[in-house]
Amino acid sequence: MNHDQNCIFCKIVKEEIPASKVYEDENVLAFIDISQVTKGHTLVIPKSHHQDLFDLPEDCSKHIFSVVPKIAKGLKQAYQAEGLNIVNNNGEIAGQTVFHYHVHLIPRYGKGDGFG
Ligand code: 5GP
Ligand code: ZN
Repeated sequence: MNHDQNCIFCKIVKEEIPASKVYEDENVLAFIDISQVTKGHTLVIPKSHHQDLFDLPEDCSKHIFSVVPKIAKGLKQAYQAEGLNIVNNNGEIAGQTVFHYHVHLIPRYGKGDGFG
C-alpha cells in the first residue's frame, strides 16, 4: 500500500495519530472530521495515498463510491439527520487543504445547522 510519510491522513491510516473511525475495510477508511461543520461530518478516504480525484486509480474510485452510500445511510440513521451533502474538493483552487483524496459526508439538520 502506498503511503506518504508527511501526510496526515496516511498517519491516521497507520494509526500514528488517532481518529474516530466510522467505517473500515481493506481499502477504505471513514472517520469523523476534526472540525465537524455539522454533527457527524465524516471523511471517506482510500487507505492508499492518492492526492486527488485526478490521481485516483479507477478501481479505487469504484470501491469508494460503492461504500459511500452505505456509510451515508448509516450516518443519516445514527445522527437522525434530515439529509446529507457529499462534497469532494480537488485541487487548491477548489478548496482542498489535505492532499490525500477524501469525500466529505455532511449530515444536514435544517437551516442554521452550520453548512450552506
Ligand atoms: P479539504 O478542505 O481538503 O476538502 O478537507 C480537509 C478536511 O480534513 C477538513 O475538513 C479538516 O477539518 C479535516 N482534517 C484536517 N486534519 C485532520 C485530522 O488530523 N484529523 C481529522 N479527523 N480531520 C482532519
Ligand atoms: Zn496520504
